[in-house]
Formats: sequence, structure tokens, C-alpha cells
Amino acid sequence: MNLSQKSAKKSSADLDVAGIKKDFPILATKMNGKPLVYLDSAATSQKPIQVISAITKYYREYNANIHRGVYKISEMATEAYTDSKRKLANFIGANSIEEIVYVRNTTEAINLVALSWGDANVQKGDHILISEMEHHSNIVPWQILAKKKGAVLDYIKLDKDKAGLSEKSIAEQLEKRPAIVAITHVSNVLGSINDVKDLTKKAKKVGALVLVDGAQSAPHMPVNVKDIGCDFFALSGHKMLAPTGIGALYGKKDVLNSMPPLFGGGDMIKSVEFYSYTPNDLPWKFEAGTSNIEGGIGLGAAIDYLNSVGMSKIREHEKRLTLYGLEKLSKIKNVELFGYQKKGIEKRGGVISFSIKGIHPHDVAAVFDSYGIAIRAGHHCAMPLVKGIFKEGALSRISFYLYNEEKDVDAAVEAIYAVKKIFKVR
Ligand code: PMP
Repeated sequence: MNLSQKSAKKSSADLDVAGIKKDFPILATKMNGKPLVYLDSAATSQKPIQVISAITKYYREYNANIHRGVYKISEMATEAYTDSKRKLANFIGANSIEEIVYVRNTTEAINLVALSWGDANVQKGDHILISEMEHHSNIVPWQILAKKKGAVLDYIKLDKDKAGLSEKSIAEQLEKRPAIVAITHVSNVLGSINDVKDLTKKAKKVGALVLVDGAQSAPHMPVNVKDIGCDFFALSGHKMLAPTGIGALYGKKDVLNSMPPLFGGGDMIKSVEFYSYTPNDLPWKFEAGTSNIEGGIGLGAAIDYLNSVGMSKIREHEKRLTLYGLEKLSKIKNVELFGYQKKGIEKRGGVISFSIKGIHPHDVAAVFDSYGIAIRAGHHCAMPLVKGIFKEGALSRISFYLYNEEKDVDAAVEAIYAVKKIFKVR
């Protein structure tokens, strides 16, 4: 099936959201008898028919294991899987597929770095620097590593507005000359976009390696790992139109080459003797066992789709929606918003966390659900951050993607008024 040419060809900066929506079968369904309004793309994105079809085509027409068969359909599967790595390398500006390791998700990518690079390089007393804005997946692997090695885990503090990172804190922490700085590109709670290029430059001056958690950036804005200058970049396919179970770790070739393999088994070796083995070349050295072939193929189709729409256009579209959302929600009494507000929109992605005074976010989300609106509620897998910005430690969150439009925000606003009415909040 062809991509939504209409959306790709539109000359204005606006996306053809109506055309895009037609590509997402789930968006034509109902939830609780109401047309589904999906406002939880920061958790996972919906999938276009082009991705679903690419996976179905693989199973129907050329299902075979990769790197093994000397027959046609195995070669086809190997080529499709490898081609998706080429697409991802181009998508994020990597030099070649040698720098693209497929994993299950962002969490696994970060753990791979902590367990392989961290185990080989971090010594007792070394500093590991993260921030107060991190998802659990960029906290816990470093806690485990620090404990194992006797290293020290440090945090860059939030700034006084509790929106971005404190420059003062960055400077203070870098004085400790950390071995690695691991930082989120875009916060899944605040939507804040961190200046990871600047931070990388500063971290490099003190000799640190830099890992960027790109789970919330790669799906939503143009990303170039070479421009950022980071050593590692982690992403999840399921947040960028691809299926679950496929994600990637970008690593600079020389850094990946220096790291020991994490898992042993088939595909990650060149040869095996009874008491030794020779590891495979990059990136296969880090991909032991049969790969998630359908996931790789699905991710390739997802990247084609995103490219056909244009990442800059997606970013602009989400920026407009976020501005619109901030404008509308800021006018509702007893609704508190977090992170950068309208003036800081250039530093904010398509995520709006909010709280309605005195009402638990789970109650908020349940009312939204009855309206057919899917939103997130709770600690958003960022407990330290959420507790730090809001004492109850739980928030409601709406988040946008290329298939959302202003009327989805209007539906959310209507649902907020309904929540307030039900719970008698003025
Ligand atoms: N980092 C951030 C900023 C995220 O938003 C998420 C997912 N919510 C993750 C990491 C983890 O992603 P995954 O569950 O796909 O590994």
C-alpha cells in the first residue's frame, strides 16, 4: 500500500491530519461507545496500515530466519532486516549500520550500555551523572551499576522553575569529572527538551562519555546523533509507529568496538571453539540469538512513513497542538500545569502533564476513558521527578503525535470540565 501521499505532498507547514488518520485503523474505532481519542502517544504510538502490512507481508511471503539460509526467502528476510538498519542509521544521522544495535526498547539499550560498557570501564569511586528528570529506565540501570562497582550516582538538579535542568548544577556536577553522563533528550513528564548538544560538549571537556535517552525525541523531531556528538543514543520503535519489542542502541563505532558483548550465543560470533570464541563484527556482536525480524521490518516501514510526512513538520505540528493545549488548559480554574509554558514552547515537546485540584489522576483518567479519551495517569515511570514537582506524586498526562488535532484537545478540555463537575471542584 502507498504511503499517504497527500500528507507528504502538502506544501503548507500543516499536516494533512485527516489523511494521516485514515492510515491508522484504530483511530476509526470506538472506546466505550465513543470515537477513540488517543492522547497517550508518549506511552506508545498507534500503528499505520503501512507498518501492519509490512509485517503481514513478511509472514505471508518471506518468513525465514536471517543470516543463515542460503535460500531466497531467507535472503529476502536478511535484506529487509538489514535495510531497516540502514533506514534507521540515516534517520538519526549515524555513519553506518555498524553503529545500530537492535534491542527490545530504550530500557534494554540503556541496560546494555550499563552492563557492557559500565562493567568494563566504571571503577570504584567513579561518578555517574544523570538528572532529576529521568525515566526509571535511565535511573535504575545506573543504580545497579553504581552499587556493583562502588561508584557514585549524581543528579543534575531541575532549575528553579522545575522545567529544565539547572545550568549551575550541570557545572557543579561536571567538576566531579563523571565517567558517563546519561540524560534524557525530552522528558516524558514535563515535555522539556534538553540541550543535549551543549551538555555533550561540556561533558566531553571533562572526558565523560554521553548517553542520550531518545525515547521521546526520535519519534517527534529531527535527530542527528553526530550533530549532538553523543556516544550512545537509545530509542524505542513502539513510540515511533513501529511494533513493540524493537528498539535501538546507537553507539559510536570505536566505543561499541571497545565494549565486550553482553549476551553470548548464535549470530554474535564469527567462530566458536570448545573453550573460546571470536566475536562477530558490529553490530551483530551485540545481537545474540534469532533477532526480532518482524520488529526490524516494521521499524523500517515506520521510518519510511515518518520520512514521507517529514520530521520537521511533525515537530511543528506538535508544537502548535501543545501551544493550543497550554492556552486552553491554562484558562481552567484549579488546573495546574507543569514544565515550560507558552513562552518556552521551543523547549517543549508534545506532552502536557496536569493536575486537577483535589482529584486523583486515576479518577481523572477514568472519566476521560468514559468519554473515549485515552490518557496516562500516575507516576509516569519517573517517580523521583513527579514527586519533586508535585507532592502527591501522581499526574495526568496528555501527549500528542502526528495524528492528533485541535479537536482532540477540545475533547480533553470538555472531559476536564466533566471531571470537575462530577467531583464538585469549582
Ligand atoms: N525514557 C523515556 C523518556 C521514556 O518516556 C520511556 C517510555 N515511557 C522510556 C525511556 C522507556 O521506554 P521503553 O519502555 O520503550 O523501554
